[in-house]
Amino acid sequence: MIVMGIESSCDETGVGIVRYTGDASGTGTCEMLADEVASSVDEHARFGGVVPEIASRAHLEAIVPTMRRALTQAGIRRPDAVAVTIGPGLAGALLVGVAAAKAYAAAWNVPFYAVNHLGGHVAVDTLEHGPMPECVALLVSGGHTHLLEVSSLAEPIVELGSTVDDAAGEAFDKVARLLGLGYPGGPVLDALAAEGDPRAVAFPRGMTGPRDSRYDFSFSGLKTAVARHVESAQRAGRPIVVADVAASFQEAVADVLTMKALRAVTDRGIGTLVLGGGATANSRIRSLAEERCAAAGVTLRVPTPRRCTDNGVMIATLGAHIAASGAEPSPLTAATDPGLPVSVSQIV
Ligand code: ATP
Ligand code: MG
Ligand code: FE
Repeated sequence: MIVMGIESSCDETGVGIVRYTGDASGTGTCEMLADEVASSVDEHARFGGVVPEIASRAHLEAIVPTMRRALTQAGIRRPDAVAVTIGPGLAGALLVGVAAAKAYAAAWNVPFYAVNHLGGHVAVDTLEHGPMPECVALLVSGGHTHLLEVSSLAEPIVELGSTVDDAAGEAFDKVARLLGLGYPGGPVLDALAAEGDPRAVAFPRGMTGPRDSRYDFSFSGLKTAVARHVESAQRAGRPIVVADVAASFQEAVADVLTMKALRAVTDRGIGTLVLGGGATANSRIRSLAEERCAAAGVTLRVPTPRRCTDNGVMIATLGAHIAASGAEPSPLTAATDPGLPVSVSQIV
């Protein structure tokens, strides 16, 4: 079965195509046939963040050419099914991908699956590492920070915890802006941190006290602490070493994320941790997760950085697993849901 996945929840227009082989238990494997992504990130840079109207317009311009390139790359005329991100995401941006997916599914007369973007970030790992065992997933992106329990890709995902304020990727972007590093801040801050000392500044680890929720996160206090640090240095006329601040901030984020992820894995007696979402492209989050998983005897699965950020292949992969499990296709009347909870894998 060949499945096309369409992604337009934020500022990436993604179209991916996979071939699924396997049975209905949802433990088959996907082979990637096409992976086309057009990003409007450069158009948002001068505003310091994603501008929803600009993103929607860019999707509109990019969607058909991106679809055509994906079909050519896969060497097919049409897939056997079309999957699309129905939510969560930006309302106007979602509409473009969903309208396109419905139109193509109707024109090709193939089943249509309206699926959850967040499930896609987890599912994409199977492309590189094979069938997904029962696992804890740590999903960290510009809009989300979730700790999840996944029994199989065809079953609803259980949310263990999430951020109570800023997403971790958002914290990277805001701190990068504060340090004058531009947008998107994550990758620049990551590169700069490599030259700094992660022990230079003792930034707070939010929500790690004995009475705090075991699996929830908070990053806005950390962001404020960085701002205070910079301000007080400026007031005192002390120069700040930007690389040290970046490294110390990054260490605080990576420390809390991986500590709580390992805690969830251990508490629940699960042997595998999967990372996903744009911010898990971060080198320190990856290396600290590796260290801590190795020490705890936990198997760590992390997609290649390119597939941590938004793309269409992740939606194709999730759609393929759902379709293969025998789920009914979604109705062509399915409405976009900007606030779709992570527990809803597919709109039926
Ligand atoms: P959503 O939250 O809906 O998944 P999104 O577009 O924000 O949407 P992604 O494309 O998955 O999500 O991730 C983008 C985020 O990842 C941005 O906040 C960006 O700064 C962050 N990011 C990317 N690379 C790195 C990195 N190396 N280190 C830290 N953060 C990074
Ligand atoms: Mg993005
Ligand atoms: Fe995403």
